[in-house]
Amino acid sequence: MRYYFFFLLTLLTACSGLERSEQERMRRVNAKAEEIYRLKGEKFLTIEIPKKRKREQYSFEKYTIGNHPRITKEYFRCRGSAKNPSVMLKKNTKNAICHFDCGGYDKHSLPVREEKEYIYPVLIDLLNYIQEKTQKKVVITCGHRCPVHNVYADASKKNQSSKHLIGAEVDFYVQGMEQCPKEIVDLIMNYYENVEEASYKSFARYTSADSNVSINPWYNKEIFIKLFDKNEGRDFDNNHPYPYISLQMRYDKLGKKRVLYSWHQAFNGFMRW
Ligand SMILES: [Zn+2]
Repeated sequence: MRYYFFFLLTLLTACSGLERSEQERMRRVNAKAEEIYRLKGEKFLTIEIPKKRKREQYSFEKYTIGNHPRITKEYFRCRGSAKNPSVMLKKNTKNAICHFDCGGYDKHSLPVREEKEYIYPVLIDLLNYIQEKTQKKVVITCGHRCPVHNVYADASKKNQSSKHLIGAEVDFYVQGMEQCPKEIVDLIMNYYENVEEASYKSFARYTSADSNVSINPWYNKEIFIKLFDKNEGRDFDNNHPYPYISLQMRYDKLGKKRVLYSWHQAFNGFMRW
């Protein structure tokens, strides 16, 4: 039996070897040689030398400027929080009112315009421009304020018509340049140098006594720049030791109208949940 098995194995192996050699013979018979007529150095296609080009940004890099995240409308959300302790609005009187802060961005939106949350784009662009030019972080201390947080932060009568309520004002300072806010004001003016309209390029000084700052503010057609010294303009949101800058919208370029405080917009122009 064992011998029969070995005989069969040998026979099969021999057959497959025979088949392979036959295939090789047929391949050689049918093979056709083709001569190469191309001369040395002759090229069918000319390949251009690759040029070095700048690498395209990854999607996550588009959200940064230098080492800092790009500022978006999310940075303008109300700084109120239900965890903040209550404040007494009329101290040392029998009619003192206990006022609680709002629930913050968990409880309400930014101002809404055309069914979307809206912050004036030029405010965002200006802050990103400052970050890009200084390579330093812009710290927004106050963007949008809902009416409840606005009273909580500063209950003075003058503050009740603040443009923070309609998303048209922002307070900020630049980390690492806290003591040189004038340089930041100059940068803001530089931003407008490439704008065609002369009314945007030229800045005037606001000299009226009602500005509540020691340094006269600057303004062009679109924005109003206020520089608060380290002892000025302190409230709950600006409770830090640095001078800071406030940018207010004066004119809405897209809507082609002046930006004015409106009670209706301030109290009904955002969503609560
Ligand atoms: Zn709020």
